[in-house]
Amino acid sequence: MTDLRRPVLAANWKMNLGPTAATAFLEAFLVRYAPRDDRTVILFPSAIAFGAARSAAAARPDLQFGVQNIHAAEKGAFTGETSAAMAHDAGARYVLVGHSERRHVFGETDAQTAEKVRRAAAHGLAPVLCVGEKIEEREAGQTDAVVVRQLRAALEGLVAEDATALRSLVIAYEPVWAIGTGRTATPQDASSAHRAIRAALGDLAGSGSDEIPILYGGSVTASNASALLQAPGVDGLLVGGASLDPESWAAICNA
Ligand code: PEP
Repeated sequence: MTDLRRPVLAANWKMNLGPTAATAFLEAFLVRYAPRDDRTVILFPSAIAFGAARSAAAARPDLQFGVQNIHAAEKGAFTGETSAAMAHDAGARYVLVGHSERRHVFGETDAQTAEKVRRAAAHGLAPVLCVGEKIEEREAGQTDAVVVRQLRAALEGLVAEDATALRSLVIAYEPVWAIGTGRTATPQDASSAHRAIRAALGDLAGSGSDEIPILYGGSVTASNASALLQAPGVDGLLVGGASLDPESWAAICNA
């Protein structure tokens, strides 16, 4: 990775850690992870624990916060949903978009993902756009084609409207078969997909896209984090399960 792209370590807590548990997590994490200016750490608590997590980290402006989801609409009658403007108002600076659980459990399409990316950018939230192939797509040799299709579908509208919004973007390559399964991509597999993503970003947005970090996600642990971070083209990690334990998350952030 280039010097300008410092590693990004992002924790996706999914539907875990309510306000009380999130506060206890941060108390334990903060003593294990001192501020470092050679990396960016982002936490994605649940919406209900977002405020408590931010308060618990009030003394640590080095930590960034994001939300796990937004609705694509500006506002309105969408019971249970959170808008981009509300998330920004609550202190979120990032939002996960296109996570495989949103795509494959909740049935979100490429088109909905694209709408969310544009809505997020319009409200000053940096989209962390997740792309990744299913196991049958990998076995059919379609990995690069799938991730490039997802990337183009999500970003073409944004590029056409406001190419500068791309500068705040983060991409996460998350092979579906590696998420929550204990089956991690090899550093070589990760590098190969990251190369395809980097090339597609260049085609879409030219050299302005060089600084967009591309994270790897999928069964990252404290034991494999360092090897994955050293893989060429891997600019950081998006971590689910192993980010729920303050000790293992601190080890990953210090990897
Ligand atoms: C994720 O949900 O983004 C993820 C990578 O999960 P896990 O680390 O548990 O595989």
